[in-house]
Amino acid sequence: MANYPPEITPSEGERMTEVIKDWALAHGLTVRPPPAVIAAEADPNGILATAVPVTLFPSPFPQVCFDQGLAVQKTYNELYAAISQDEAFLAQVVKEIGDSDDFITELWKVHLRVKEEGYVQHKSLGLFRSDYMVHQDGASSTAPHIKQVEFNTIASSFGGLSSQTSLLHKYLSTTEYPLLEKSIEKGALNLPQNGSAAGLAAGIRHAFIEYGPPTTNYRKCVIFLVQGGERNIFDQRHLEYELQKSEEPQIPVFRLPFSEILQHTSLAEGSGRQLLYRPPQLPSHTFEVAVIYMRSGYGPSDYPDQSAWEARYHLERSAAIKCPTVLTQVAGTKKVQQVLATPETPSNPSILSRYVSKDSASVSSLLDTFTNIYPLDDTEAGLKARKIAADPELCKGYVLKPQREGGGNNIYRSSIPPFLKSVPESHWPSYILMKLITPPPFKNTILRNGNLEHGGVICELGIYGTCIWDQQSKKIVRNEQAGYLLRTKGDKSEEGGVAAGFGCMDSCSLV
Ligand code: ADP
Ligand code: MG
Repeated sequence: MANYPPEITPSEGERMTEVIKDWALAHGLTVRPPPAVIAAEADPNGILATAVPVTLFPSPFPQVCFDQGLAVQKTYNELYAAISQDEAFLAQVVKEIGDSDDFITELWKVHLRVKEEGYVQHKSLGLFRSDYMVHQDGASSTAPHIKQVEFNTIASSFGGLSSQTSLLHKYLSTTEYPLLEKSIEKGALNLPQNGSAAGLAAGIRHAFIEYGPPTTNYRKCVIFLVQGGERNIFDQRHLEYELQKSEEPQIPVFRLPFSEILQHTSLAEGSGRQLLYRPPQLPSHTFEVAVIYMRSGYGPSDYPDQSAWEARYHLERSAAIKCPTVLTQVAGTKKVQQVLATPETPSNPSILSRYVSKDSASVSSLLDTFTNIYPLDDTEAGLKARKIAADPELCKGYVLKPQREGGGNNIYRSSIPPFLKSVPESHWPSYILMKLITPPPFKNTILRNGNLEHGGVICELGIYGTCIWDQQSKKIVRNEQAGYLLRTKGDKSEEGGVAAGFGCMDSCSLV
């Protein structure tokens, strides 16, 4: 569609601001207000919510790219389930990251301790999100395709808010866009269904069932393991409410702060190591935890001291199904992504076929989504990367990433050479160097904290997937694609995290 999204008049902007603000609050497309909007002292009881930043219009997104992302998701689920089962490969990756990364080292120690005594739970739940940007080769005659930014195996967020965002844009497309001076007729936009909240909840529900009947005298429950002071709480609540929609099985859900694991949970006597949870507000109740869904634990700030690592170990050795296990969390490191994507050479063949065995089409559908990622070690590829990273011109096409999650950790373009100079060379192998994907920019308007920001934007597509597998029998029990996320940010901004305050929620208008 030419001239899409349309320009709007200032008064149309005012009207859409009112409409979106209220729809967002009425439907829980919300976050707890950031301190810049409401000072903490002004809301001592934590009773306020505010609309999440969103685009006024769903961004145009190539249908071929959208379909490509959906089509490859189950293969990605299979790939990461298989990598989680390959302990030797992950051990090698951890070794290559090296001692300079204490976080990964400590995480791996948790796995080794549990391995020593033997895991009692072999089933594993993955709620994944594969993130992409659109890439168009120089010649504009070739079809655009998607390139992967990263693959998330822990705390993949925004599935709760994303389906709501799709519904908001659908609502606007029938009520508001037809009334604009440059109107868009009802039905003119191609807005795909988005079952992200329901899809992720279904993954948790099936893991709850897979756990089997309780083996203590207590009822089963699900724990959402969260961070204290979480602002993105409604995203998580939507998943919880989706879980409650099914009458059978009835699933009690509790939110447990990571810092309170040892205080409120214990392991049952005997060899079963069932995880028992006593809700502090319901002291006469005890539950057997069937599933631990982690929305925390992915970065060093959740582990301020050794007791936090003990808490993670305590969960890992329990019989609860973890989403994710330590192995799956390590499988999600950027180092693993780099090893998978480092260009194939005769002396270094792609290892993908080890994991997705069935047919070469699956392997090539994965390969199509890779962009160049290099190690910074002393292999041939690593030495090439060191040259790029030190070169004031070449570095402008790259991003340097440490083994971290959650936004705000990467080093971009011209900041790379001075940054690397400031880091001892022995620590370089804990970083990866990735080619920047440069999606075509276009214009859209973002409503953020009640203000309209108009300008150039770029989009990042996330496709959710859920997978349950057995580490021992190596069988996949359930593998599903689970809806999508579109995040949009200003084309001058490097990072796109919504929670970190850089980006905003969006949905796709397929073109
Ligand atoms: P995190 O684990 O912190 O989310 P990401 O790898 O997703 O780390 O990087 C954060 C953001 O940086 C992404 O959402 C994206 O906007 C931008 N980014 C990361 N890698 C690339 C890349 N190769 N090309 C373009 N942008 C990128
Ligand atoms: Mg990311």
